[in-house]
Amino acid sequence: MVRKVDVDIEKRLILVVDDEYINREIMREILKDTYDIIFAENGKEAIDKIYEYKDTLSLVLLDLIMPVMKGFEVLKHFNESKKLKRKIPFIVITSDHKSEVESLDLGAVDFIPKPFPEANVISARIKRTIELFEDRETIKSTERDALTKLYAPEYFYRYATNLDKNLSIDMDALIIDIHHFHILNIRFGTEVGDEVLSSFSKKIKETIHKYNGIVSRRGADVFMAYLPHTDEYKEILSEIENIDVEEVKGRITVKIGVYPNVDKSIDIRRRYDRAKIACDTLRNKVVTSSVAYFNKDLYDKELFEEQLIDDFEKALEEKQFKVYFQPKFNVQGDKPVISSAEALLRWIHPTLGFISPGIFIPVFEKNGLIQRMDHYVWDETAKKIKEIKDKYGLSFPISVNVSRVNMFDNDLVNDFESIVKENGIKNEELLLEITESSYTENSEQIIDTVNDLRNHGFKIEMDDFGSGYSSLNMISILPIDVLKIDMALVRNAFSAEGNTRILELIMDIKKSLNVIAVAEGVETLEQVEALKKIGCDVIQGYYFSRPLNEKDFEEFLKKELNL
Ligand code: C2E
Ligand code: CA
Ligand code: CA
Repeated sequence: MVRKVDVDIEKRLILVVDDEYINREIMREILKDTYDIIFAENGKEAIDKIYEYKDTLSLVLLDLIMPVMKGFEVLKHFNESKKLKRKIPFIVITSDHKSEVESLDLGAVDFIPKPFPEANVISARIKRTIELFEDRETIKSTERDALTKLYAPEYFYRYATNLDKNLSIDMDALIIDIHHFHILNIRFGTEVGDEVLSSFSKKIKETIHKYNGIVSRRGADVFMAYLPHTDEYKEILSEIENIDVEEVKGRITVKIGVYPNVDKSIDIRRRYDRAKIACDTLRNKVVTSSVAYFNKDLYDKELFEEQLIDDFEKALEEKQFKVYFQPKFNVQGDKPVISSAEALLRWIHPTLGFISPGIFIPVFEKNGLIQRMDHYVWDETAKKIKEIKDKYGLSFPISVNVSRVNMFDNDLVNDFESIVKENGIKNEELLLEITESSYTENSEQIIDTVNDLRNHGFKIEMDDFGSGYSSLNMISILPIDVLKIDMALVRNAFSAEGNTRILELIMDIKKSLNVIAVAEGVETLEQVEALKKIGCDVIQGYYFSRPLNEKDFEEFLKKELNL
């Protein structure tokens, strides 16, 4: 059963401020069919109400002469407010024509004289003022998405907040996502892609409206809905996945993330983050359309991630982050020779203990902290290179990982230049590992940045090579010095049913590109010998050494090189 909700969420909200009961009642009569109305009886009350409803208020009708606080004071207050200045339109109600200019100066946009003109004159002025104001806002953030005609997120959040104010029932926040939409786009072309999106959004809208909800387009192929709590997501799924585009009929898989019975005390955006987290749990699993719920486990995970973020600053200050070094060996000579190392970060947390980078790095990648973290690692690594140089007269290159997020930083090249300069080392001694997936995400910009880095003398290693699926067709135009083979390929090649054919193919590629090949995750002598035989230059892995702390690494180096 679909429950009926009476509140019309499209109704605009108006605050009527007047000290006289009869005037308030007149306005109520004129406006009640078209608008939701709230009232205040003096300036002080008006200010409180405006703050309370600031996100949803479309207009304030303000009497000038009132006890306690006059209308002018209210205008003055908001004229001086940084956040709310000219955010909400005021129409002044006045019998005193001289105050018009002064009100205008203070930001009022129109007048209604007292005694009141005819009702339709008042309605028309109010309607026009709201429209003009919303047009202005619309220019700032388009209300509706051009392709799907759904609400843009900012408007959607406003309506959803509005809905909460008017309804005291449980609500669900939904993220709706077409699985692998980009593949449809590549396979059938963007025209069909657009058609799919239009048709899909129409289906979502029809379906969610039946459940008295509202819908928005969040981004490319991701939609949001806000609706009274329901258990009928199976039905909802089967309705919306069934879209009418010939080419893709029966091929669309839909994922829905539900944050059920939302906590209305948390910010509306955050509620959708939770729905998104639920939806993301389906990322690698779905074969048919599916629904996932934000539950206790995900909540705990969210709390844990929040703690990591909260603790970041202090960890950096107190040097809880430790840079470890894992040796890399050149195997092409008679005997393997240590030739370099990779800097890998560990977090020794005072209460949580050892935290692996596989856990905290994705968290920091989501919110930009990764940039500061990486800079810290780069700087510590540069110091280490310099220390080795000073102590042993040795130029020993070490590689650092460059997170995908950093590749969009316009200062990246300058930052590396200063790190290298400040620490007195050479550009070619700080090797940069950039993961393959960075290249496929926004290839042109990444290629420009990488070219820039190489022109400055930095050496680029493509990390996790072979883990993605689109780099093979671009490999010949990518600017790189080293191919670092994805660990999973090495693992597969040496598993029970595996063979080294893929690795041999990669060796062919590296020869034709004239670059160096590094294999990582190498754990046995047998693997070392096989890799050496097919032409792999450098090997990193537990066979030679685990990542070592600063002290142990130095001991290791001394022993290997007889220093
Ligand atoms: P990655 O860059 O592919 O690093 C290689 C990972 O494989 C490291 O895990 C390393 O300890 C592990 N490993 C090395 N040899 C073997 C082996 O023989 N067998 C097995 N099973 N594993 C081996 P770790 O240190 O846990 O790092 C995981 C990932 O976290 C790294 O993958 C990298 O993407 C990221 N990461 C680590 N440190 C940093 C950093 O300072 N900055 C950034 N941006 N990412 C980092
Ligand atoms: Ca790496
Ligand atoms: Ca890697």
